[in-house]
Amino acid sequence: MQIWVVVEGDDHGLRESSREVLTAATTVAGGVLAAAVVLAPDKENLVQEVMEFGPQTIYLHEEGSPSVTGEDYAEFLGELIERERPGLVLAAETQFGKGLLSRTALQYRMPIFPDCLGISQGPESLLFERLWYGERVSALLTSAAERPVLATWREGIVNVKKCPGLNSTVQKVRPQVQTLNLTRFLEEVKADPLTVDLSEAEVIVAGGGGMGSAAGFQLIQELAELIGAAVGGSRVARDNGWIPLKRQIGQTGKTVAPRLIISCGISGATQHTFGMRDAKKIIAINKDKNAPIFKIADAGIVGDVHEVLPELIKRIKEGKQNARPVGA
Ligand SMILES: Cc1cc2nc3c(=O)[nH]c(=O)nc-3n(C[C@H](O)[C@H](O)[C@H](O)COP(=O)(O)OP(=O)(O)OC[C@H]3O[C@@H](n4cnc5c(N)ncnc54)[C@H](O)[C@@H]3O)c2cc1C
Repeated sequence: MQIWVVVEGDDHGLRESSREVLTAATTVAGGVLAAAVVLAPDKENLVQEVMEFGPQTIYLHEEGSPSVTGEDYAEFLGELIERERPGLVLAAETQFGKGLLSRTALQYRMPIFPDCLGISQGPESLLFERLWYGERVSALLTSAAERPVLATWREGIVNVKKCPGLNSTVQKVRPQVQTLNLTRFLEEVKADPLTVDLSEAEVIVAGGGGMGSAAGFQLIQELAELIGAAVGGSRVARDNGWIPLKRQIGQTGKTVAPRLIISCGISGATQHTFGMRDAKKIIAINKDKNAPIFKIADAGIVGDVHEVLPELIKRIKEGKQNARPVGA
């Protein structure tokens, strides 16, 4: 069965969620992905990045324009799917992926499985794993239709793995259908990292008992503000009133999956690490070199947070002052 992935880019290139879907889809496909679809315009870099996952074909929309909801591309994608008849088309469960695939499904009467946690081969057809009823029930679903199936994949649950050494052919596709322009993008308002829900945060600075006092915990706030991160902490930080319950990470707090978490003065008790085990990168600062947090950290600093953090903050500020504007 041919499996396709529709990818998405942002200012930094290929989005992490698209990398995750490319990885997952390649596994479902048994090692080689049939195709990736690149919709945005002027995305030669995106194509290069997608090639690292080795899809056999990369379909590149010739005239795309930026679309936040993805709906505008539904007709283009629908026509392409009707023509090539892949078995399964995947995208990330993002605003773009949801908007695009749900409208394509509606217009072209294709089955869709949103927010999947896993896809596997059943005895007769593919099985789609989803969570229902406030995530209390795990459901396995299958498609009863012959048509190509669409599905979106939940973000943050796959470890990205590239497939070097495979060759891709790029096929530019000129759209034969008119863009619908059903919605118009007005403005993107970035969420305030200091107030954003911890489970949605991309970068977190977390403090624990080692911060010593409410005044000491201010260093966490200061570093977070400087790097645009959300503030989190351990139960000791919450018990001391330095953070509210909704900022506590762990078994009795929030489960987080940021790109980066900087854990400061946190021992790494299992009840805490339970809530952060899906973080992509962990940097730990602790004065005890045997602290359990170092066992799961990608990088660690053995030192006193009251010395390390002010120095780190100072250096980041200096770095920002000395940074040359782009193109200067
Ligand atoms: C049922 C149950 C549920 C729980 N749920 C959670 C939960 O959801 N989340 C959670 O976090 N915990 C939870 N806990 C508590 C958990 O077991 C730990 O007690 C807690 O995580 C410890 O927090 P901490 O590491 O910040 O503090 P501490 O245990 O006090 O550790 C402080 C760490 O900071 C280091 N340190 C001290 N001073 C400095 C300094 N100046 N510079 C650098 N490092 C320093 C120390 O070496 C130590 O490693 C739960 C416990 C139970 C029993």
